[in-house]
Amino acid sequence: MKVLVVNCGSSSIKYQLVNMNDESVLAKGLVERIGLDGSVLTHQPEGKDKVIINADISDHSIGIKLVIEALTDAKHGVIASMKEIAAVGHRIVHGGEKFADSVLITPDVMKALEECIEMAPLHNPPNIMGVNACSKIMPGVPQVAVFDTAFHQTMPKEAFLYAIPYEAYEKYGVRRYGFHGTSHKFVSQQVAELMGKKLADLRIITCHLGNGSSIAAIKNGKCIDTSMGFTPLDGLVMGTRSGGIDPAILPFLMKKEKMTAEQIDNYLNKKSGVLGISGVSSDFRDIEEAANAGNERAALALDMFAYRVRKYVGSYVAAIGGVDVIVFTAGLGENSITMREKICNGLEYLGTRIDPVKNNIRGKAQEISADGSEVKIFVIPTNEELVIARDTKTICGNLA
Ligand code: ADP
Repeated sequence: MKVLVVNCGSSSIKYQLVNMNDESVLAKGLVERIGLDGSVLTHQPEGKDKVIINADISDHSIGIKLVIEALTDAKHGVIASMKEIAAVGHRIVHGGEKFADSVLITPDVMKALEECIEMAPLHNPPNIMGVNACSKIMPGVPQVAVFDTAFHQTMPKEAFLYAIPYEAYEKYGVRRYGFHGTSHKFVSQQVAELMGKKLADLRIITCHLGNGSSIAAIKNGKCIDTSMGFTPLDGLVMGTRSGGIDPAILPFLMKKEKMTAEQIDNYLNKKSGVLGISGVSSDFRDIEEAANAGNERAALALDMFAYRVRKYVGSYVAAIGGVDVIVFTAGLGENSITMREKICNGLEYLGTRIDPVKNNIRGKAQEISADGSEVKIFVIPTNEELVIARDTKTICGNLA
């Protein structure tokens, strides 16, 4: 069975075609600049040369059509015809409270996704466009929605509610939802497997550290708390997002700088985080380089990032009554040897000791804690596409 995994952004489509017989990736690629000048498809078939296709891609339907053409092309294709695609799995950012698991997309599900637009105005509309484009190009092929929010739906009320009048929750669904759920779920399952333990016996803290970063407290395989909130702005310091701040800063700055609601939203989402502090970049590689060259604000941004992660780890240890393993994943978590060291130095009180030699790895699943460390530390590369493909297979396999 072959599953097409699709992740639509406002001007992009990321895709992978996965052969579920052995979970191998047959091809992957990226459509960029949809609706803009210079739109392009970069297609990477497994074991063949990368192909760059420049075309006028004015909307997501044209993008999906080009992806199918690339996948079935006589020269750089990997399947003979579109009929080989048994199902499509979509990454959907916001499922609200309606979805605690992945689902087969039906007209009712589409209606629910539309209702979530208000809560994820930047993400859900392109996700929905992706589903519509696939229905148009591949009519009759089952499609599955896999939500970033679903894994976090097990959070108890005391963790997901904000202490504002209860009516805000009842009327508008204002609560913590959490994101990156597919990644937190995947790495928690992987680490249990690598440790040879049952998920049900573990207390896990997963640190998804990338451009967007979040952390989750997982007990008996269930998410108990996570750092992103009503939107992905809450929690850790991020590439360009502030993470948690005193909410009273908003009206203060809006008055001082004469900012509109939209402008302050942009300020906190796009101009803050390690970019705002360092003034150098939102990319951690640039900031690490600048810090090494003596840039004090770059060094401060890295210290603030690590400090916030450590604070969250401490609070999540309290939330789940201890911790057995801490996992690092995503771009920074998988690749930054120095950031992992910086975060772990200061967690020794928990019985956590990082091994500098084992930690000297990038992008590889491996234990990095020292022998005898009471709390284990692991690096686990995330694979959200594989989770989407697996869920799609499970759901569509049940259809047959
Ligand atoms: P997102 O999916 O949220 O866009 P990623 O998970 O791809 O983000 O992570 C991107 C971040 O990971 C970038 O800030 C990048 O600097 C950082 N990163 C990637 N490789 C390294 C590395 N070798 N050292 C330090 N940071 C890295």
